[in-house]
Amino acid sequence: MNASTPFPAPSRRPQVLLGRLALAAALALGGLAAASLSESAHAAAPQVKTQAPGWYRLMVGGFEVTSLSDGTVALPVDQLLHAPAGLVAEDLKQHFQQTPLETSVNAWLINTGNRLVLVDAGAGSLFGPTLGKLVAQIRAAGYQPEQVDDILITHMHPDHVGGLAADGQRVFANATVHADKADADFWLSQARADAAPKEMKGFFQGATVSLTPYVQAGRFQPFERDSEILPGIRALAAHGHTAGHALYSVESQGQRLVLVGDLIHVASVQLASPEVTIGFDTDEPQAATTRARVFADLAKDGSLVAVSHFSFPGLGHLRKAGKGWQWLPVDYSGQVR
Ligand SMILES: [Zn+2]
Ligand SMILES: [Zn+2]
Repeated sequence: MNASTPFPAPSRRPQVLLGRLALAAALALGGLAAASLSESAHAAAPQVKTQAPGWYRLMVGGFEVTSLSDGTVALPVDQLLHAPAGLVAEDLKQHFQQTPLETSVNAWLINTGNRLVLVDAGAGSLFGPTLGKLVAQIRAAGYQPEQVDDILITHMHPDHVGGLAADGQRVFANATVHADKADADFWLSQARADAAPKEMKGFFQGATVSLTPYVQAGRFQPFERDSEILPGIRALAAHGHTAGHALYSVESQGQRLVLVGDLIHVASVQLASPEVTIGFDTDEPQAATTRARVFADLAKDGSLVAVSHFSFPGLGHLRKAGKGWQWLPVDYSGQVR
């Protein structure tokens, strides 16, 4: 028998087998003891209790797109959504969710190769302590706030503009801010702020403190409705949620991403019942009409879609389903090519 054969000669097998069994038993016992020791050692390690970094990256043609999480906020959607009695509670239950509903606040960084473009700026300090993480995520994703050249604002609600300024200073020192003129005329108007009901005044103040440092520095450029902002990036008017709510269509090498801002808020309710509106909508009927029109186009042309308040990273595709829509979220991409 070859010396390298791992099995003993047949004549020695019974004794060797017994010996092997004994050895195996001893090893098993030892292993058990070792396992229980190591288990107790693991149990002593404190639980870490932090979440994964809040950025996610993919390519749209030659543009690198990074989703950024500003955090999440608990929204009382049962009070905010305008829906038939019982619908919201039933839909949430069917989706294993509850109210107040944990709601993502997403923003996006687009590196076109020539410009670094931020779409929306998170809430900063305007919407509570669970938000305002945008700058930390920009850094974690490999960029610095001062590298941002342009900021495209979908609309001037505090969870989209609050991160523009801190303590009256521009957070993005080298950036120019772009937004639909109709939104600027509405939210930056002192006369409208004065006339607004008490519960809305904070929205006007939030827009003003966030935009004013850029206005004063000559770094605010409003646009009118549909406009090309940068090569490959167009603004599209989608008014209703606010007076000047804008979408951004991003195209490179035949691929298209459309950032739809607050065209929709609560996936588990409004996808199946798109007629349901939310109290944040300035003009609720117009918001529902705009949503129907834009979603029909997006489902038809198969564009990748970015939604501000869908679960992070808020990227996916829309497909027609009955009277509403189905959301098909992107897969994890381990390789950004
Ligand atoms: Zn909004
Ligand atoms: Zn929002």
